[in-house]
Amino acid sequence: MTSYSHQPIIAIATAPGRGGIGVVRISGRDLSALAQSLFGTPLQPRHAHYLPFKDAQGQPIDAGIVLYFKGPNSYTGEDVLELQGHGGPAVLRRLLERCLEAGRNQELRHAEPGEFTRRAFLNERLDLAQAEAVADLIDASSEAAARSAMASLSGQFSTHVNALADRIVHLRMLVEATLDFPEEEIDFLEKYQAGATLAKIRDDLADLTRQARQGMILREGLQVVLAGQPNVGKSSLLNALAGDEIAIVTPIAGTTRDKVAQQIHIQGVPLHIIDTAGLRETEDTVESIGIARSWAEIEKADVIVHLQDARTHNDELDSAITQRLPARTPVLKVFNKIDLLADAASNKPATLPNDLAVAADPAAASTGSADAHVEFRLGISAKTGAGLDDLRHKLLDIAGWNPSTESPWLARERHLRALSLTAEHLELAAEHASHNDSVLDLFAEELRLAHDDLCAITGQFTSDDLLGEIFSSFCIGK
Ligand code: GDP
Ligand code: ZN
Repeated sequence: MTSYSHQPIIAIATAPGRGGIGVVRISGRDLSALAQSLFGTPLQPRHAHYLPFKDAQGQPIDAGIVLYFKGPNSYTGEDVLELQGHGGPAVLRRLLERCLEAGRNQELRHAEPGEFTRRAFLNERLDLAQAEAVADLIDASSEAAARSAMASLSGQFSTHVNALADRIVHLRMLVEATLDFPEEEIDFLEKYQAGATLAKIRDDLADLTRQARQGMILREGLQVVLAGQPNVGKSSLLNALAGDEIAIVTPIAGTTRDKVAQQIHIQGVPLHIIDTAGLRETEDTVESIGIARSWAEIEKADVIVHLQDARTHNDELDSAITQRLPARTPVLKVFNKIDLLADAASNKPATLPNDLAVAADPAAASTGSADAHVEFRLGISAKTGAGLDDLRHKLLDIAGWNPSTESPWLARERHLRALSLTAEHLELAAEHASHNDSVLDLFAEELRLAHDDLCAITGQFTSDDLLGEIFSSFCIGK
């Protein structure tokens, strides 16, 4: 396990600005001397003390509640002091300065971002996936994301990971025991049904990965890019989805010269919707810069909405755009302004000409996946709102979101990478096991590698670099 300097640390733990209360938090191996010099009286662990906060000259700075947690029974696993004063920036700064002064002998210093939680991890109060969930809970932008972050924080994800890791270790122990008795090697696979056991582990890993992917969509959200010719209604659609006037809508082609983005939530999933400059050949340099940026956004999209005018759909320029869209990204062809179609009396997508209506096949939609190039079609009117609910659902569908999966824990790209490396090693193990001349030590080695990759999620094997990367994105005071 990585070590850390045991210098005590301090930070204002509440958000900057004014508030009813503000909290200064200190963590260190032994804070009894500091508490004594700050308050002149011994503090009882886990009791709320109402005390004056005084400066070095004995003049009052504030008065409030002090909590003292004796390590290891604290958030960080060390001694923790929490001073709750009034939540004004000047008061809290004075309080912080006063503590730094009183803690000079103990070398009390400002905490780095996430340092309290990093200590909690290093003192095994939390595993790494749980520590990440702390930041995710704070950053959660929807209730669904907050619920899922809490599920991770309470260890639901880690429990699944640990259970699988244990099963891999168990299988490996059987193999390694056999390795000591070479004459039994031949029987091993059959005797312990190693092949079947491994197959079951791989199945369960695939399940876990599916759930983790949901958890990642919930955490990272989806990049949805609105692409299409000028004037087809991209900005109007963005406004309609976002429910307010964020992009400029005008009847002059080429108005949206730069991208405008808006975050919306559908079923708790954050969608970053990006409006782009209309894609067309142009002589105008400013406009062409906008168009170049549009293509850059399109390259990064999780889902592309290729918006077209339902009256002129699939014309030459639309075909040119279609050809240029990246093959790996799912595309939703959306035909806007159906209210203007000749027989638009009912304003329903069903009034689309036949070649536009192919899309309504729900079976096709459910096969959507983020890695295959799939196309769906849909008629809408950004003006009347017709078809927008269908569009919202289809966006999630295409990205692989499964609403029936009950509030999964949140996951990160790091977790998915670890899961996929684990799967690769298990696949190699299965190959070794399936040969007649199966080589047990290779089988065992792949199991070992699979186990190490899986345990990276909970942080059993971590480098200082990885920890630095993870905790530096935390806020100060957490
Ligand atoms: P963009 O250039 O693709 O962003 O297109 P805009 O959103 O600026 O819209 C261009 C014009 O089409 C504006 O006059 C809009 O009011 C109009 N428009 C957009 N969507 C619809 C629609 O669904 N029905 C009708 N009738 N007009 C629309
Ligand atoms: Zn626009």
